[in-house]
Amino acid sequence: MDLYEYQAKDLFAAHGVPVLPGSVADTPDQARAVAEELGQTVVVKAQVKTGGRGKAGGVKLADDPADARTKAEAILGLDIKGHIVRRVLVTPASDIAEEYYFSFLLDRPNRTFLAMASAEGGIDIEQLAVERPEALAKVPVDAIVGVDLAKAREIVAAGKFPEAVADQAAEVVVKLWETFVAEDATLVEVNPLVRDPRDKVIALDGKVTLDDNAAFRHPGHADLVDVDAEDPLEAAAKAKDLNYVKLDGQVGIIGNGAGLVMSTLDVVAYAGEDLGGVRPANFLDIGGGASAEVMANGLEIILSDRDVRSVFVNVFGGITACDAVANGIVQAFQLLGSRGDAVTKPIVVRLDGNNADEGRRILTDAALPGLTQVDTMDNAARTAAELAAQGA
Ligand code: GDP
Ligand code: MN
Repeated sequence: MDLYEYQAKDLFAAHGVPVLPGSVADTPDQARAVAEELGQTVVVKAQVKTGGRGKAGGVKLADDPADARTKAEAILGLDIKGHIVRRVLVTPASDIAEEYYFSFLLDRPNRTFLAMASAEGGIDIEQLAVERPEALAKVPVDAIVGVDLAKAREIVAAGKFPEAVADQAAEVVVKLWETFVAEDATLVEVNPLVRDPRDKVIALDGKVTLDDNAAFRHPGHADLVDVDAEDPLEAAAKAKDLNYVKLDGQVGIIGNGAGLVMSTLDVVAYAGEDLGGVRPANFLDIGGGASAEVMANGLEIILSDRDVRSVFVNVFGGITACDAVANGIVQAFQLLGSRGDAVTKPIVVRLDGNNADEGRRILTDAALPGLTQVDTMDNAARTAAELAAQGA
């Protein structure tokens, strides 16, 4: 889970990383009130989970509370790389002498952690890495040893931070490492880490990615989830314990087993290429035991996606045999009908594996409206893609 800047800086503050105070506002009037409370020149900053807000007009200085209101009005509602701004952070404007870059991240290819540091921060770090790679230090961090003050000094020196702030920066780096470990983060980034005119080092921006696999260790992290920003279909699927990811195509996909579903996405996308770019609408793995209820819940989620024009149910019978899955599908149709959500979109089913013949016979006998059976995965994908293209 990626955090908003204000959430990242709250975590920083909790671990002793120097940040400026501030509060978030959902409306221009709230922004004015926060500025009034701070009683000084402020910065109004768009809270969106993407970088480059400064360049996109999402970070503005405001001289007084009335100006903070005006600036918040301009920023709220902005579209920054597809993210609509619903909230701003109002925080004291800092005078900046220098801007540095610092991050800790999980270095997957090298199976270790990495510190990245540069005295040339503030700007787009990807650009710096390409144009002047020598200005961006990359220092591996041993997960067992961690980062003590000596290691932090080594990192800060490698990043060529000026001597005058090296000690202070090293202390900040140790605290950022403590944040990284204690919160189970996979990324902690500060850009810019600034030196103010009085040589104080402050984290002016913050980006944190938390490891969702460690969520069980952090009950408090649940409060950081932004429910409004979640996709409503994904939220509904999560509530029903379904393994669902929304995609932007037109063919709804249900399969049993993550590997089968992944390859189903591929064959549907491949079949759809010749049909004007028909593509999968989602990933949905209903897992091993495909009970009628799970099948009904899955179908319900997929059919309520307005982009979906057809559905491809791709099942390979294993421990749960095809006859059980077929019965699940028949009951799911009944269940959806009784919930007032009768199936109206075309459904293509491919059953193979354990008891496939029996499963197919059950579906043939049930003669469900709009349901077509196709025996092979490739042909079924093509049929589903064609139905989606026709329905468009
Ligand atoms: P980003 O563009 O999304 O990374 O947002 P940042 O928080 O990094 O802000 C972008 C830039 O705005 C920074 O690099 C600073 O140059 C500037 N900025 C942000 N906050 C302040 C501030 O308090 N005072 C001043 N003078 N500039 C700021
Ligand atoms: Mn930044």
